[in-house]
Amino acid sequence: MNRLVHVTSSSDIFPQYRHTPVGLLLEYHNLNRVFDSYIEAQILIGMCMDNRKHLHIPENFAYIIRSGGGNLRYSEFKVSYAIAIGNVRYIALIAHNNCGMVNLMSRKNKFINGLTEKAGWDKEWAEEHFMHFASMFEIGNEIDFVLSEAKRLRLRYPKITVVPLFYRVEDNQLYLLREGEEGFM
Ligand SMILES: [Zn+2]
Repeated sequence: MNRLVHVTSSSDIFPQYRHTPVGLLLEYHNLNRVFDSYIEAQILIGMCMDNRKHLHIPENFAYIIRSGGGNLRYSEFKVSYAIAIGNVRYIALIAHNNCGMVNLMSRKNKFINGLTEKAGWDKEWAEEHFMHFASMFEIGNEIDFVLSEAKRLRLRYPKITVVPLFYRVEDNQLYLLREGEEGFM
């Protein structure tokens, strides 16, 4: 698992991301860089809806799309909007460990019973709902998913810089990901 690079000083930021909104995101969040003031967004951040994560960034710095697993496949119009209208040229995609969108099947019964008991759903609807959507939202492995999602978005938006990142819930820090094929599990 040496794909993670903990950013503890600005020299840890990969050179291609220094002096970009991605570098600033890492500096604000990890290095307590003093906040600059912004009147428009510099970056689009895609991250999981998970309640354990909170970014330390200035007002107006970023558009943020939160979704299960940080999956942007079903948020494409919002991504396009942030680029076309919001003028962002960078996307940071933030995966995190212990993500609930990994191995959804293991939570099937809990999901169905929860919807039945807590939301008043009929058990069959709940089961159908789960079976219809679970495969769309399953991400498999957090790191593999964010790397493949970054590749997908780079092809979809070729002039935009898309950077996969990792948020570790134990220390609330952001990590860069090494993307070379070698050394992958
Ligand atoms: Zn998650």
